[in-house]
Order: sequence, then C-alpha cells, then structure tokens
Amino acid sequence: MATVRLTIDGKAVEVHEGGSALDALRAAGLEVPTACHDPRLKPTGSCRFCLVGLKGSSRPVTACALPATEGMEIFVDTPELNEARKANVALLAKEYPAEYVEEFPEKSFHHWVKHFGLDCASRNGRLIQDVDSTNPYFRFDPAACIKCFRCVRICSEVQGSFVWNVFERSGETHVAPDSLGSLVDSTCKSCGACVDACPTGALVDKTREEAGAPTAWTRTTCPYCGVGCELSVGTKDERIVQVLPVLDAPVNKGHLCVKGRYAYGYVHAPDRVTSPMVRKEGRLVPVSWPEALRAAADGFRSALGSYGTGSVGVLGSARATNEDNYLSQKFARVVLGTNNVDCCARVCHGPTAAAMKAMLGTGAATNSYDDLDLATTVMVVGSNPLENHPIVGDRILQAKLAGANLIVIDPRRTEIARYADIHLALRPGTNVPLLNAMANVMVTEGLTDPGFLATRVDEVEEYVSFVRDWTPERAAEICGVKADDIRAAARTYATAKPSMCFHGLGVTEHLQGTEGVMTLVNLALLTGNMGRPGCGINPLRGQNNVQGSAHMGCEPGSLTGYVPIAGAKALFEQVWNAAVPDEPGMNLLQMLDAAEEGRFKALWVIGYDVYYTNPIADRTRRAFEGMEMVIVQDLFLNETAKEFAHVFLPACSSFEHDGTFMNAERRVQRVRKAIEPIGESKADWEIVQLMAAEMGKPEGFTFSSVEEVWEEVRKVWKPGAGMAWSRLEQQGLQWPCPTEDHPGTRILHAESFPIGVKAALKRIDFVPTPEQPDGEYPFVLNTGRTLVHFNAGTMTARTKNSEIRPSDTLDMNPVDAARLGLQDGSRAKVRSPYGEAVLPVRRDPGVREGELFATFHTVEVFINRLTNPVRDRVFDTPSYKVTAVAVESAD
Ligand code: SF4
Repeated sequence: MATVRLTIDGKAVEVHEGGSALDALRAAGLEVPTACHDPRLKPTGSCRFCLVGLKGSSRPVTACALPATEGMEIFVDTPELNEARKANVALLAKEYPAEYVEEFPEKSFHHWVKHFGLDCASRNGRLIQDVDSTNPYFRFDPAACIKCFRCVRICSEVQGSFVWNVFERSGETHVAPDSLGSLVDSTCKSCGACVDACPTGALVDKTREEAGAPTAWTRTTCPYCGVGCELSVGTKDERIVQVLPVLDAPVNKGHLCVKGRYAYGYVHAPDRVTSPMVRKEGRLVPVSWPEALRAAADGFRSALGSYGTGSVGVLGSARATNEDNYLSQKFARVVLGTNNVDCCARVCHGPTAAAMKAMLGTGAATNSYDDLDLATTVMVVGSNPLENHPIVGDRILQAKLAGANLIVIDPRRTEIARYADIHLALRPGTNVPLLNAMANVMVTEGLTDPGFLATRVDEVEEYVSFVRDWTPERAAEICGVKADDIRAAARTYATAKPSMCFHGLGVTEHLQGTEGVMTLVNLALLTGNMGRPGCGINPLRGQNNVQGSAHMGCEPGSLTGYVPIAGAKALFEQVWNAAVPDEPGMNLLQMLDAAEEGRFKALWVIGYDVYYTNPIADRTRRAFEGMEMVIVQDLFLNETAKEFAHVFLPACSSFEHDGTFMNAERRVQRVRKAIEPIGESKADWEIVQLMAAEMGKPEGFTFSSVEEVWEEVRKVWKPGAGMAWSRLEQQGLQWPCPTEDHPGTRILHAESFPIGVKAALKRIDFVPTPEQPDGEYPFVLNTGRTLVHFNAGTMTARTKNSEIRPSDTLDMNPVDAARLGLQDGSRAKVRSPYGEAVLPVRRDPGVREGELFATFHTVEVFINRLTNPVRDRVFDTPSYKVTAVAVESAD
C-alpha cells in the first residue's frame, strides 16, 4: 500500500495513502482524545477533541478530518493544544453522570475524563426513569449522551436503518429513536452497532451492565448464517457475557446483526443437554458416555449385519466445523463402508453447487463481498438479504445508497425490494422463464459481450436460437410481471456493468432449482459478468458452515473438495489407508424414502433437526419410525431427538470448540474455543473418533487436535493445500489456495474455468411445478426465514430474540385478510393436502394477493407439517417455496 510522509512535532512519520492526520498520530504511537471519530464512519470533526496544530493554519484543526498529505507538518504536544483538548473534554464532562466513568472504563470518553483528572456532575437533574430499557439487549440513558452522533451515523452509514435521529426540543439538541418514544416502538433491528459506537454510558449492553466487564476475549466466527462474520467473545467465569464485532474482520468490518451480536444465550440455556442419553422404556434417560456409545455402535452393527451397508448413513452438520464434517463423512465411508452421507445443503443451496459445478467447474461463489464496492449494478434474486444475510444485505444497501443500480427479483416486496430501481415481483416458481426472457432481451437487443462470448463461452449459437422463443411477453404472462420491466432489468444488468448477482433459496428450493441457477449463470456468461471484479454469481449460503459441510464430503457423490468419488478415490484411499466404497450413496431424501420402504435402518444425525425441517412431517415421521437406530447429536433435544432418537450424544457449541468454518465467499476462518465444553458435552470431531473406536475401527480416527485433522484435509484437498493452520491463525483465506505462498483467490474464473477455457451456455426450458393453486387450495404458500430467528429456532428460540419476535407469522396481503375476516394477530389455519398448521396473521402489503409467506422457526407452529413433496429435478432439494394451501380463521 502506498504511503505518505509527514512530520509530527518534528519527527518523520509514514501513514497509508488516504489516511488522516489522526491515523498518522496513531501510527506514531501518539494518543489524542476522540469522541465523534469511529474508523467505520466518515469523519466529521464535530467534537473537536482531537485538535492539532498544522503548519500554515492559524487555528487548530481536527486531526480526524484532516487528510494526511506528503510533507505535512503537524504539532500535537504544545501547552496550548493540550489545554484546548482538555477544555473540550471538560466542557462535556461537567454535565456527565459521574457513576458511569468507573462502571464502564472501556468507554473512550471515560478514559479521557480520567486521563485529564476531570470532575463529572451527578445526573444533572436528569432522571434515571428516563432510561429506555425497552430493547431486550441494550438500554439508552439520554443523560449520558454527549451528542457525538456516532449512534446516528453508524445506524445510517453502516447499518442503513436510520433509527437514531437528531431532534431539536426546547432549543436543545437530542438524540432519539425514530419512534420519538421508546426503542421498542422504533424500527430498531437490535444490531447493537450504536452501542459499540457510543463512547459513553448512554448506550450499554444489558449483559455488560449486569455481569460486569468480561475478563477474557476470544476471536471466533459467528455460529449463524453463511456470511461468516467474526466475533470478539467476552467471557467471565466460563460464561459468555458480551459479544462485539471484530473491527478489522474482512467480512463484517466491525458490524454484526442481532443474531451474531446478541443471540448467544442458548449456550447457557437451562434445557441444554450435557450428558449422553439412551431411550429406555420409551424415555430418553441420562447414561454414561461408554453406555451411549455402545448402544449407538450396537445399533449400527445390527443394521449392517442384518441389512448391509446400504441400510446405514450419516448426516453431517452445517453448524459444525469443517474438521467435524470431514471426520463424519470419513466415518461413513471408512467405518460404515457406505456413501450414504449428506448434510442440509441438500435442502438449501445444493442446487447452486450442482449447477455451478456443472457449468463452471466450481460449485461456489465466483466473487467476494468486497466486490460490492466495485459493482455498478447489483441483482438480488430469490433472496431477502436484509433479514437472512444481514451484513451482506447492509453492504448491498450501502452500495445502492452510494449510487449502484439495484434489481430485485422476488415475489415479495421485501425491505431490499423497496430500495430497488427495478423490482420484478414474479409468481413463485417462475424464475426460469423470467431469466430466459432477460437473456432474450440481451440477445435480441445486442447487449451481450461479444469479446467474452468469443473467447470464453461455448454453444452460443445454439443458445441464441433457443432463447429467441422466450420473449418478454411470453414470460410476462407466466411470471405475472410486465414485459417492459423484464426488458429494463435485462438492459440494466447487461449494460451498467460490472453487474453482481446474489441469489438465495428463492431460486434453489423449487422443482427447477438447479435449472434456475443455470439460467442465472447464462446471464453472467452472456454479458461477460464473470471472472472480473464487481460481478459474478454469488449464492448467499444459509448456515454458517453449509458451504464447508458439503465441501468436506458430506455429500453422497463427492469426496472432500466436492470432487466426484470415481476420480478422486485413489488419493483418498492412499491417505486414509482404507477403501472408499464404490456403491453409490443415497442422499438425505433418498435415505428417508428408503426408510419408509423398510430398506434403511440406522441414521446418525449430527446437528440437524431433520423431522422439523423436512417437508411433509408425517412422511418424515414414517421414515424415522421405520428405523431401528436413530442417533441424534446436538445441544438440545430437538424435535427429531424427542420423537425418534434411540441415543442422544451431547455436542458442544462452537463457542466451546476449535476448528474452522467456510463462508459463502469460500473463506476458511478460524473458530476458537471461548469457554470449556459445558457438562459432559464434547466436540463433534471427538465424538466421531469415540464412535470409530467403539465400532472397532479406530485407525484413521486418532487425531489429538483439530489442527491435525485439518492437516489431513489439506492432503486430500488440493485447492486448500496452501491453507496452513498457522496462516489461518493470522487471517481467513479464500480457496483456491493451492500453496503456502498463495494469497488465496478473491475472484474465480479470471482466465479460464476448471473445465477449460470456455464454459457452455445451457438451454433450459421451463417445466412448471405440479403444485398449482385451485378451487380447494387457492393460495400459494412460500416459506422462509426472518431477521431475528434462525432455521429450526433451536438456538434463537432460547434467546431474547423471542421477545422481539415470539412466533412465526402468516404474512398475507391486506385485501385477502379482509376477505377472510382476518386481522393482525388473528389465528389462521393453513391447510394443504399434506397437513395443517395454525399461526398468527400479519397483514403485509408486500405479499401479493393470492400468495402467502410463513416463517418456519416456531416449533408450536411446525409449518413443515403442510409443505409439499415436490423436489428439484436434478438435486432432490424440496420445493419449500410453492405449496398450494387453503386458509381459514382459527379464532
Ligand atoms: Fe452472524 Fe450472519 Fe449476522 Fe454476520 S450476518 S452476525 S454471520 S448471523
């Protein structure tokens, strides 16, 4: 990085180009007070704490707002400047509640009050009753606000929420939430950015206030979504008491969402199961580890003996580390002798991996989140990123606010859709015709990239001829959008380049899931939005390590590195010193089908509530009831464990665990133990090794640390071979990273694809889903996540996030609600041919008439009782996004 040279009090200092005088001071090891400054925000210099002298200026200037330039001469340590800085701090201190200075020494204003030996006032007439404690996680005391406006700025500049505002009242300036009343009535999303931006006791985490300051901090990776934010975890007496964002984390850059920052209470939940259990006389009862392992191993042995290797299987976990998943699939293949191994990628982004692997040679995001800073157009397809991948969502929003074009393709008018220049609110399940029609516009209007097509793309002529039939008018009829809007979206994506595409489960969880992703890849290839900065096809992966669990080999047809078994078998057999089975494995859905038919008998489910999350719960029930051994390994007795487990093995959380996660941009990042495993719980990889020993096959399962497991992963996974543990300790790395001097890869396919220099366009015709509304089931139900909860609710339901959102809701258009006599909060019964559920209604004009949206986090609601049996034509992923249902009042 280029630097500039300047002098501070006569001493030469270097600072990075673009840095400020304050950065130069800090580079020189000098400290001056700051209040309004925050490295995440644009400088304002409003508090005037950081005054310095500048050669050529008759008055002191604020260092934070002064760009450092070559040859600049700055003065810091003069009696006048020292006095001026102290006077500015003293001015605010004299009206500041004194008690906070000692209580929260980590707050920077308190540091400077003490540094200058200043006296603070008492509460200065402002009442403790004015403290707003309505947010479950933090409180606001206006008496301690020094009007630095960092909360206001971080809320808009980073979070994009505009909750905090500056108001004039009685001639005085106040900071207040947009409700003009309490926080709970505001639009606050509880991300906590304002709390860690606040340099005083005005905004404080409640846990920090109640438990005191943490005594240790550990850097790790968020246990929730696939964005992969890094956390700094504060602990005290073996409890997590505070979480802060890591300021220099490449992914989240000092920001977190409500889940990552606050939803850690599940770790210490009272119903956490921390000892092994075995079902006896119909009830799960605590037993010793040896007894539980023996029962589990006996179950596998019995099934293997009676029914063969096709009757047993393992499900890895998207919440577990790469090392856990690597050993889980190795156990299935080496110890059980089966390729029956899968993970929950099957029910989310597996179609993405399959489509991208088939077309481009790599089944993962082509670009990185940082490319958002370079994109001229961002296209979001079938994704609600401000709720489901909030930190990327916030970065997309900031890109839009900074001038990027935003196209959103989604049936609902979600928050991100409200910011879009073009929102195509298509009928659920019609991505393929819509994207084909966009390709038609590009081809017929000459908007493709001829240079890229000539050098990097195959089957162009065939594709052009195919897509000519997909006119915008034809697609508009099928999709329920205007043909001209399809044209506008196509023109913007193709011409306002680079164009970056993010997509979610609104593309993959359909009959045409894999094909939907292929049509997206077609658009990128047609327009040359591939292999360059600021573009590409970027799946927003659901769970923290769903990319990693499949990539480590929890996939019946692939070994570690997502390589087909046949091609890679020899290397694995050499490293493992064991045979890899040839018999094709079954995926999760096929294992359950086989169980229903009596052909599958023993399943080990690691960190995954299959019964609750699979569609048509009745059918899943029948499958589990047909098994003779169900082993569930989790933190809690989830619904699968409660109903069907013969053996329960207590895993520990990622906060009690070392290892690595892989995020949605192919970044492998460290997970570090912040507290010891609670009770008798153990790390998943250790449990797998104990099971291998119990099965009498310990060879290959005798690692003494996760680092040793990772070393073996590097031996079998060439694109990850350069990710030495010592490098990962320093920073996350994006694969491919084949050698230890390789920096990692931010952008894939720059010069060629793993399948060759050229990738072929795919001609994808539209096969409509059989799930269509009719007279008996007139609504189309779409299901998905919400901001404050996560998947099966196993973790977030045990936190105060449930105070923010106590239940799933059925979101419906107000016109439909009025017709059915339903209000906000009315209980509605939703019925499909497969089952029914009752849940509260939320009227939402963003949902189109005739369509419904339900979240799926509340066990009492159990929306998957009624979702449908349709699966992706290629990858078997369930079609959670289209179920024909009827609705009636349940009040
Ligand atoms: Fe965690 Fe995802 Fe939120 Fe980041 S965006 S804090 S990874 S849940």
